Amino acid sequence: MVTQHHHVVNGLLIDIDGVLYEGESAIPGAVDTLQFLTKKQIPFLLITNTTRKSRFGIQSKLQRMGFRASIEQIFSAPYAAVQWLREHRAQSLYLFVRGDVFREFSEFKSTHYRPEYIVIGDMGEDLTYERLNQAFRMVMGGARIIALQKNRFWKKEDGLAIDAGAIVAALEYATRRRAIVIGKPRKEFFRQAIKRLGLPPEKIAIVGDDLEADIQGGAKVGLFTIGVKTGKFREEDLQRAKVKPDLMVHSFSDLPKLFKF
Ligand SMILES: [Mg+2]
Repeated sequence: MVTQHHHVVNGLLIDIDGVLYEGESAIPGAVDTLQFLTKKQIPFLLITNTTRKSRFGIQSKLQRMGFRASIEQIFSAPYAAVQWLREHRAQSLYLFVRGDVFREFSEFKSTHYRPEYIVIGDMGEDLTYERLNQAFRMVMGGARIIALQKNRFWKKEDGLAIDAGAIVAALEYATRRRAIVIGKPRKEFFRQAIKRLGLPPEKIAIVGDDLEADIQGGAKVGLFTIGVKTGKFREEDLQRAKVKPDLMVHSFSDLPKLFKF
């Protein structure tokens, strides 16, 4: 497919939260648009920093709203963390996550006694001072911090909500240690996703609502960038953004209009 400015795009990395849905509702037209791309045989991966669900949980949520995607088409921060931990031959860890995310990490020994790594995701309402302090003590005892993502905030049904990044920053501050950040905008996350698509980065467009994680992060690894005005998008962030998207659209549903197929 080709843009009006003759930029060739052969594959897509599509951010999930804020692009395909907001909370429990699909963005109007997004289900049909994803189906359209599938019909046109445009290869895509659905990428996400969400740390509250395993890929299986994400897939069932998508399915409930009518989106069709295979497990192999879902690329999440927890899944990328598993790859990282495998590569680094991790033995033991302790998870500070919620939901069914623990399913992704079943191959590692989980222990609260001197784990090699602590893995931190968005704990939402499960976050307590006690849990935070438990994480703090583990790091002081030698555990390295794996941050599934370091997002500042996200958009819930009832408004903006503080994300895992702020909690990771608190731990880093208290322990004077730096977390290993896995999710977007880490280059390695995009590189893994690009490798999976098997296309050169300049032939891949990223579609995202997050100007830092999706757009700036994607631009850094050479992706063509498309911003949407749904999800966490705020006009003032666009004015302030160091890196502006190559294309800005109202929503994911505008994609078929953007390209000649
Ligand atoms: Mg998003």
